[in-house]
Amino acid sequence: MNKTIKLLEKLSNGHGPTGFEGQIRQIIREEITNPEISIDTDGLGSLICKIEKDKQSPKIMLSAHMDELGLMVRYITEEGFIKFQTLGGWLDQSIVNQRWIIMTKSGNIKGVTGIKTVHVMTETERKQIFPKDNLFIDVGAKNKQDAEERLGILPGDPISPDSSFEFLNSDNLLLGKAWDDRVGVALLIETLNSLDSKKLPNNVFGSCTVQEEVGLRGAITSSYTIAPDININLEVGVAGDYPGMNPNLAQEKVGAGPSIFLHDSSMIPNLKLRDFCIDTAKNLNIPIQFSVISGYGEDGAAAQKSFGGIPAINIGIPTRYLHSHNGIIDLNDFIKAKMLVKNLVENLDETTVKSIKSFD
Ligand SMILES: [Zn+2]
Repeated sequence: MNKTIKLLEKLSNGHGPTGFEGQIRQIIREEITNPEISIDTDGLGSLICKIEKDKQSPKIMLSAHMDELGLMVRYITEEGFIKFQTLGGWLDQSIVNQRWIIMTKSGNIKGVTGIKTVHVMTETERKQIFPKDNLFIDVGAKNKQDAEERLGILPGDPISPDSSFEFLNSDNLLLGKAWDDRVGVALLIETLNSLDSKKLPNNVFGSCTVQEEVGLRGAITSSYTIAPDININLEVGVAGDYPGMNPNLAQEKVGAGPSIFLHDSSMIPNLKLRDFCIDTAKNLNIPIQFSVISGYGEDGAAAQKSFGGIPAINIGIPTRYLHSHNGIIDLNDFIKAKMLVKNLVENLDETTVKSIKSFD
């Protein structure tokens, strides 16, 4: 258990904004300890982990994305403030008054997104949202030259949220950044580490993808690299259990078990695969939740549309406050999801895969 928490902490604290996933790639290489697993990368940087049984057996692809929402240095003002490009779907008000890490060639530089103080705002300004294009990061530089030469900041440097993992007043609620999708990455790592090729009726691939937050880019290339028969995508679920949310928006509750997505704006899952997941959870006595939401997007959608079409499903860990510096998940949901995913993988034999792939 301790090991699981340590892994979640390491992955949440790790910095890997979209397009700059190197640090997370490194963590995964360290944490995949099953000697049967070989690790490679595709041409875009996604990690392809593999337990190969034989060439004839079906190929099952687990996937999870390594990247997190971030920013990128656009330019430095003459006064030494950092203007930025957003990487991924930020809400403007989630960017204001936060701490950030600018990942320069020579190391991490701290910064903060400030806005003008309330003391000098007009009545209208106090009610307004500050659009991201007007924001900047203050790194304490004297001027542009100081930011470039002393701090080593350059256009194109990635910027990651600065927010540390901690327990939230309990021993099961975990507070941290980047659960989207490091919780999926942790699930993928622990599932792969628990597998034994002698007990597998298939070849298992773990695809840790890059650049999901800007359009599932890594999932496209890794799906074509692996050519799976089935894709099980591991993601954050959307919790709807806090003020301002309601079941019309999102149905999941943190702590009530992993979720199966029945609809999001990018994908409708394969129905036989959906039923296989529901039956497996029932047999294992794992409580599951369903998610029907109108927004969202996930890597399963890219896998589903690769080649001639591939059965895919998205399994979620309910998460509060997605796409911000502070998300909340429940360790118990993670543990149940791990049991479910391991069993799904171990039971996807040739006959089951054939039946899932058939529309007869
Ligand atoms: Zn995600």
